[in-house]
Amino acid sequence: MPDGSGKKDIKSLLPDELAAELKAMGLPGYRAGQVFRWLGRGARSFDEMSDLPKDLREKLAAAYDIPCLTMLRRQVSAKDGTEKYLWALPDGESVETVFMRYQHGNSVCISSQVGCRMGCAFCASTIGGKVRDLAPAEMLDEVIRTGLAAGAEVNSIVLMGIGEPLDNFDNVLRFLRLVNDPAGANIGMRHISLSTCGLVEAIDKLAALHLQLTLSVSLHAPDDETRSRLMPVNAAYGVDAVYAACERYFKATGRRVSYEYALVRDVNDTPRHAALLAERLRGTGSHVNLIRLNYVSERGLLPSRPETVKAFAQRLSDEGVTVTVRRRLGSDIDAACGQLRRGGMRDR
Ligand code: SAH
Repeated sequence: MPDGSGKKDIKSLLPDELAAELKAMGLPGYRAGQVFRWLGRGARSFDEMSDLPKDLREKLAAAYDIPCLTMLRRQVSAKDGTEKYLWALPDGESVETVFMRYQHGNSVCISSQVGCRMGCAFCASTIGGKVRDLAPAEMLDEVIRTGLAAGAEVNSIVLMGIGEPLDNFDNVLRFLRLVNDPAGANIGMRHISLSTCGLVEAIDKLAALHLQLTLSVSLHAPDDETRSRLMPVNAAYGVDAVYAACERYFKATGRRVSYEYALVRDVNDTPRHAALLAERLRGTGSHVNLIRLNYVSERGLLPSRPETVKAFAQRLSDEGVTVTVRRRLGSDIDAACGQLRRGGMRDR
């Protein structure tokens, strides 16, 4: 248990599991629904559950713990209204969550681990390695509490914050089921994106579940030599293995994988890289999301020049690959991709 209380984490239980537990305690079926709804609304204690009798609240509090996040800091971008939250977890660790407003709705970018062990050369979140996985309840609470703090509905979720979600597979899956539940946040799988550095076995495991979520794969280079410079994970799963896994994923789920590609000056942004990438992706219907590298001072790599980004995108598009260049929301508050946790760590 994150807080060392030894009590069971009630918020990570799926509705049918919660129902079974409460039934075993001799409670009528509707109680589980009541508790689940309170948890989904962000109740911090059983005492808040005012439609439960007092003795039941006490009984639940003796057996269960409700893991909750506490806000340490909130920053709002003066440029685009993007909000970044630093949350304390029950054991005192911390993670960041980003809230973004788009024309089509509000999106929350959540963290799935405290730190990350993937070691990508350009990313701030992996400095210091992985501390621990987040529990399903903690990821759920990122969504709930960020929505409450922003005073707005959350319409979609991206698992693109701190951590490698497929390196915390079981907890992430449980979180997806919790947040997708109609009695909870009720966010449809098609409104959820999961980004991975390309853990092939886990991609296959996910494919077998046939979820309708969007899978993004962080490719960042079309050849093993370049990719290995940027991503240590490439030693285990090379470019060909990643492409093959994405094809199997598409076959199994009917959902095309999209590729993330952060442009790093003079490392992966040359015309040769664009040509190689186009050659592999042409005709596959795959989408490439280009991101101009966000500069992370500790990492020493530089963002590509704006004209290089343009030329790279043009080359892909000319060769028939659909491509978008991602906007840098929240750049003035270090909320952009790969920058999370740096600010939070500095303050501690
Ligand atoms: N571990 C997962 C998800 C977290 S990172 C993954 O690797 O996909 C979300 C995205 O931001 C990934 O595509 C990641 O490669 C990218 N990213 C990390 N650091 C970045 C940086 N400094 N600039 C731009 N993108 C970065």
